[in-house]
Amino acid sequence: MILANYHTHTYRCGHANGEDRAYIENAIRHGMQVLGFSDHCPFVFPDGYESPIRMSLRQVDDYFTSLTKLRDEYKKDITIYIGFETEYLPELMEAQDRLLADYPVDYHILGQHYLEREPYGEYVGIITDDEKLLEAYVDHLIEGLETGRFVYAAHPDLMGFRGAAYQTQYARLCKWLAEHDVPVEINLHGVAEQRHYTDPCFLQIAANEGCRAIIGCDAHTPSLLDDRSAVSDCETMSARAGLPLVNFLPHLKPRHA
Ligand SMILES: [Zn+2]
Ligand SMILES: [Zn+2]
Repeated sequence: MILANYHTHTYRCGHANGEDRAYIENAIRHGMQVLGFSDHCPFVFPDGYESPIRMSLRQVDDYFTSLTKLRDEYKKDITIYIGFETEYLPELMEAQDRLLADYPVDYHILGQHYLEREPYGEYVGIITDDEKLLEAYVDHLIEGLETGRFVYAAHPDLMGFRGAAYQTQYARLCKWLAEHDVPVEINLHGVAEQRHYTDPCFLQIAANEGCRAIIGCDAHTPSLLDDRSAVSDCETMSARAGLPLVNFLPHLKPRHA
């Protein structure tokens, strides 16, 4: 069982389903004390480009209105935080900050799916043997995390790599995470779907570097918030690697506690 999950999507991103309320009710049924919403954050593209994988600029209002209402309605049962999963794309962050300036954003998680803005960048969630690409990906994650904008990185081993550089590059990332006490996400969605992330080898590297881990559901459907067998798989993975699990993020604890 997990007590908190900070990685939750909504239908607004266009590739998740279910009502906002259903995510909350599944989290409560599971026994969670904290549910953080982190749907894919829109960018204000200077050329007006509209991303097909993020909520639109026009949906931000509704995201906060709906979740704020539900947060109050369910406050006796669960603490709800409202955040985003977003990319670190230096040239677009200022405009994104301006977009969100008047909203009560609780946190961001870093979800780096591209190294360059859409639609120009290549998806990084591939299996590759290109060492330069892996190095660029790790550089990019560290640069993003260095800004202090993000509470942690979603699926940090999203880039699947085959070769010796896997060890050296991901050790470099995990060393940074351990030194800054940023937990490594065990991505429940990836584990449940038997994707290449989260990879047990990655968790072994994280444990060697002294990291802690957190289970992030990456729920694109409400039932993933109460998938006990997937949770138990994630727990087994962290135990096998010898990685201690974090229950709550420091500034995002249950409100009554
Ligand atoms: Zn998604
Ligand atoms: Zn996600």
